[in-house]
Amino acid sequence: MKKAGAEALRRALPEAALPLLDAVVREADRRRASVWLVGGPVRDWLLGVAVRDVDLLVVGDDLAAAGDLAERAAPDGVRVVRHPRFGTAELHHQGVVIELATSRRETYAQAGALPSVSPGTLDDDLARRDFGANALAFPLSKTARANDNRVVEADGALRDLEARRLRVQHSGSFRDDPTRALRAARLAQRLGLSVTRSTHAALRDALRAGVFGVVSGERLRREFVKLIDDAAIGGDPSRALRLLDDWHVLGALEPGLCLDRSAVVPLRRLGRAIATPPWKSLRHRPWRAALLLWLAPLPSGLRKRVLERLAVRGEVARSITVAIRQRDARLGALARVRGRGAVDSLLGPLDEEELHALYAVGEPKLRRRILRYATEDRTRRTPASGRDLVEIGLSGPVVGRALEGIREAFLDGGLSSRDEALVLAREIGRRSRTAKPGRRVVGRKRQG
Ligand code: ATP
Repeated sequence: MKKAGAEALRRALPEAALPLLDAVVREADRRRASVWLVGGPVRDWLLGVAVRDVDLLVVGDDLAAAGDLAERAAPDGVRVVRHPRFGTAELHHQGVVIELATSRRETYAQAGALPSVSPGTLDDDLARRDFGANALAFPLSKTARANDNRVVEADGALRDLEARRLRVQHSGSFRDDPTRALRAARLAQRLGLSVTRSTHAALRDALRAGVFGVVSGERLRREFVKLIDDAAIGGDPSRALRLLDDWHVLGALEPGLCLDRSAVVPLRRLGRAIATPPWKSLRHRPWRAALLLWLAPLPSGLRKRVLERLAVRGEVARSITVAIRQRDARLGALARVRGRGAVDSLLGPLDEEELHALYAVGEPKLRRRILRYATEDRTRRTPASGRDLVEIGLSGPVVGRALEGIREAFLDGGLSSRDEALVLAREIGRRSRTAKPGRRVVGRKRQG
């Protein structure tokens, strides 16, 4: 484990965040505020893994302390977002985000519900955290450093890190907040921490108490999204889900839910694609691709219930259900078609998540086809546009068909210039005029 020291810590923090962090600490020093780096970043620094987040704790007896400090510290051009109900705030500048939270104590009136929050001391704040490994803080401002310039821990937190273990801070932890089970699987897997016996006992106790059924779908989905996003920083979603299955958490979230063996390899492959994207994906939401893979082997009724349980509704839920239903037919067609043009027209209508899910599940030959489509073909511009076709006198649905035909022929190497494209368009137009009504005229006879 790393030795704690202010200079070493500074070197470990994301460089882009330093100017903003310095502005906060300067303002804290002016106001004699006690500001600490807290939780995940301290843990990651001591474990020697990359620190990505800058999470700050502002010790104060008014929940507004963090928001007030954020507003006063924000240099010009920095956006401040306050969440008064939670006593937190964020500073946003050119993609950098710094989070500030007022020190708090939390009480859970009901298992699985959100806690009531009130101002608390630094120790209260460390004690409310999910695991010992996260109950750590390092002083940044002069007031925080007053006594010492060292990591402050909740009892046993540093020993946990040293032994690389994940331990809940009290036996009712999962009863209070069952989403911590998802966090446990995610962190244990990503950071290679072993889950202690007392933590397993606390989990069994929460499972017996039946609290997993009462957590809201939105909260579950948020943790599930993090679990998938973690692949970008070395997590393996298939292994985290496997842990949750082994711990009987999946079935407690929704009866019958499990991780089918056939989904393991595709989920692992998806994880690798999230870490190192095989092609540029602009609006790729990995969690949707993960749901496509995870839920595909499950019976359709269960699939529907799981989507509802995770508060995945409306168009998103519908598109996941439809994509799963069509998946095998798509894979079959992708294996059968010949030519890059045919692959393009097959894959063209798919959204980014479906494409990633097909890539994760496909055989090597299909993966090569998908990769070539995603990296080369789909961005190629055909030599004639819809406007060109209108100019030569085509109108109505035949314009779309002619464009399709031109695109296929172009990607297959059958034509390359605008003139050749227009010849084909005229031919398609002519054939559509002579075709029997209701009969579809395709641009080009497909082989195979
Ligand atoms: P990562 O490094 O993946 O972001 P993290 O531990 O920093 O993990 P966050 O979700 O950013 O995770 O949470 C920030 C901190 O807030 C955690 O370190 C933890 O101390 C605390 N925390 C988050 N969720 C909970 C929870 N459900 N119960 C108790 N403490 C929590």
